[in-house]
Amino acid sequence: MSRSATASTFDDVGLSADMLEALSTRVETTGGRDAISVRTPVTDEPIGTVPACTAPDVAAAVDRARRAQSSWASRPVSERAAILERFGDLVSDHRDWLLDIVQLETGKARHHALEEVLDVPLSCSYYATDGPSMLADESRSGAISLVSDATVGYDPLGVVGVIAPWNYPLTLAMADAIPALLAGNAVVCKPDERTPFIALALADLLDEAGVPEDLFGVVTGEGPTVGPALIDAVDYVAFTGSTETGRAVAERVGRNLIDCSLELGGKNPMIVLEDADVETAARGAVKGAFTNAGQLCLAPERIYIHENRYEPFLDAFVGATRKLRLGLSFEYGPDVGSLIDGDHLEGVSDDVDEAVEAGASVLSGGRARPDVGPFCYEPTILTDVDPAARIASEETFGPVVSVFPVADVDEAIERANDTPYGLNASVWSSDRARGRDVAREIDCGTVCVNDPYTVGWAAVDAPMGGTGDSGLGRRHGPEGLRRYVDAKTIATSRIGPIDAPPGVPPGWYARAVSRITTLQRRLSRWLP
Ligand code: NAD
Repeated sequence: MSRSATASTFDDVGLSADMLEALSTRVETTGGRDAISVRTPVTDEPIGTVPACTAPDVAAAVDRARRAQSSWASRPVSERAAILERFGDLVSDHRDWLLDIVQLETGKARHHALEEVLDVPLSCSYYATDGPSMLADESRSGAISLVSDATVGYDPLGVVGVIAPWNYPLTLAMADAIPALLAGNAVVCKPDERTPFIALALADLLDEAGVPEDLFGVVTGEGPTVGPALIDAVDYVAFTGSTETGRAVAERVGRNLIDCSLELGGKNPMIVLEDADVETAARGAVKGAFTNAGQLCLAPERIYIHENRYEPFLDAFVGATRKLRLGLSFEYGPDVGSLIDGDHLEGVSDDVDEAVEAGASVLSGGRARPDVGPFCYEPTILTDVDPAARIASEETFGPVVSVFPVADVDEAIERANDTPYGLNASVWSSDRARGRDVAREIDCGTVCVNDPYTVGWAAVDAPMGGTGDSGLGRRHGPEGLRRYVDAKTIATSRIGPIDAPPGVPPGWYARAVSRITTLQRRLSRWLP
């Protein structure tokens, strides 16, 4: 397929309707299907269509993936790693093409789309380099030293279903797929119905990297139809999305007795301690709260700041926020782009309006900007938010953040933890050790010190995920790879069955075994 600019209505971004049409033909169906129209938030116009897959289409895609998986799993892990490394390079090489598609589908600013494109090669490189040793057989202590041994091997599960959201459609289609493929699994990905083309573009690059045909499949369509069908057909589900859908996924996964990881929503706190540099914290708040127009699961939506630093922090934060350039461009330039669609814009506006009616003050933003783009909303800072308002406790998932003064660190920690969510938090202090001490008190899967989220997300060797209503399981690091394998123990006896040898009286055998096991326990305290 041509991945260069051709004449079309998308001349300005170097994308053609033909190219998107060609991508959509990658989706195989078992019969004629309705077409889902995909619209761009940039202009709210249709840009192409993808098939509305049905349950039989999903089952057929998983069957094809299953057939491709067995020979993939039998290849040495070093070969699989080399292919994924090549895929990471191809993503880098095709950066502009991928950025154009991400921006067209999501309306996000180009530098926010770049975070997605940079993430995939990083993950490929990490798992290609470090992953093989995590999958190597391990020797463990046998039942009786010298008499038996035990070896643990890691077998792939089969086919992994990846269900991805629209907010980071490139990163989140691949972040869970890369370790799954390295571990020897096949993957069938269900992208959000609003952002299917980037997953199809990635499938194209995986082909070019040398991934066998059908090993990575994409099924498009409505979540409530395609999602459950995928869960019923696969051996593991890596789901990223809302807490509400995550519960439905967990129920179905449970009925099927398979395992899953659930990366869900958050109401992330940011704590600014009395000794923090307010300018640095304000820069971090701008980056955290308004990256991808706040449609980032890791974004801080609640800021707790020591009352002695409240005013200077607000001055710096409001000043920097008012300077942000809201805009839609396929060039680097605007700081903040669009929300995904009209429904989401309405939800964000309603949350802010409700908070304002309940007494909140708007220090910056607080309104939609249809003059900039159909779904643009200004970066918004609220204070005096009523704790009973929806925006104080529920995820907004937009460019809106509430700031609260606190009397001391104990109050900050208590209020930060006063939520059923536990995805990401940040602590700001000029004393990093103190920042880490406070971080240990926060009930979250990840806590970043002096950075809103990048330092945690980009530490690909460290696990990432949520507690409570923010989900189950972890991605990244060894934990993110080992979820995709079954640990299989092979234990060997050198003396035949571990039982009394023929002719040995049971009482004598019982005394001998007790002495041997006691001796073994004692020795194990001394020997390495
Ligand atoms: P969503 O739950 O509505 O959709 C996510 C995916 O699930 C989509 O592909 C959708 O089509 C599919 N889906 C819908 N119904 C389904 C069903 N019944 N069974 C199976 N799949 C179904 O999520 P959203 O609102 O589009 O995405 C935003 C949410 O995702 C936010 O809450 C955000 O915090 C969360 N998120 C979490 C992370 C993380 O890493 N923790 C990352 C990004 C987004």
